[in-house]
Amino acid sequence: MTQPVFRFAPSPNGPLHLGHAYSAMLNHDMAADAGGRFLLRIEDIDMARSQPEFERAICADLSWLGLDWQEPVRRQSDHFDDYRSALDALIDGGVVYPAFTSRAATRAFVAEAEEDGTPWPRDPDGVPHAPPLDRERSVSERSRRMADGEPFAWRLDMKAALSHLGGKLDWHETGAGPNGEAGAVQADPARWGDVVIARKDTPTSYHLAVVVDDALQGVSHVVRGRDLFHATSVHRLLQELLGFAPPVYHHHRLVLDHTGRKLSKSKGDAGLAALRTAGMTPADIRRAVGL
Ligand code: GLU
Repeated sequence: MTQPVFRFAPSPNGPLHLGHAYSAMLNHDMAADAGGRFLLRIEDIDMARSQPEFERAICADLSWLGLDWQEPVRRQSDHFDDYRSALDALIDGGVVYPAFTSRAATRAFVAEAEEDGTPWPRDPDGVPHAPPLDRERSVSERSRRMADGEPFAWRLDMKAALSHLGGKLDWHETGAGPNGEAGAVQADPARWGDVVIARKDTPTSYHLAVVVDDALQGVSHVVRGRDLFHATSVHRLLQELLGFAPPVYHHHRLVLDHTGRKLSKSKGDAGLAALRTAGMTPADIRRAVGL
């Protein structure tokens, strides 16, 4: 049997908080129990928000917690060529199209479509589905606009992508979804509409990078927060399109604050470093997150 591979994949855009500590320690514990390897991946494709200081702080916090990981650490911004190859395969397969429509034009389209009270479809994060404007453009118009140097993203043509599937699309869930989904879970990527596969400024998006990295790193077990449960439907579809074997998924509970809301960097929840300075020990952190 091949050795199981687990990974913790933070984005270096702020300090780690208790929610990250829980995810990292759970991953590390599960890898140890399975006799597996534990990897650290730095998800920094959003280069405007990612900072090397945060990457250094993440490593310091994880070491303080007593975690060790296999070197080398994979930093996504060092691997744009890998995402570009996967994107090229999707372009060749005819399942993505260039999308030129700006955010403002999308908002205007959705507002107009909803004027008569009919809600425009939204994805599981509440973001409106892409309007059909870009999907319906002629090949000649696409080529002309690309040749003119107009900025564009690549979007998945969800209908075309789904038509490539042979049978059912599911995954094995050993944790639980928001409604207790577990075991063989049926994926429903259509809920996401034509998702962005590569942004205007990078040859990838979160969905493509995570799927490519998990495959290239041989990740067998994805252990991550329940907030990413629905994104797994998109990940399963991309794995099928790119010919990657699916890992097992374990979506874990989120660590909530005393008001019951999810911890977040942007809302200023105390980072691990601040808790350490305040005198908490790694054992206190373990207890605080219920491990
Ligand atoms: N980088 C993502 C985050 O920090 C996690 C991605 C994943 O585990 O699939 O939320």
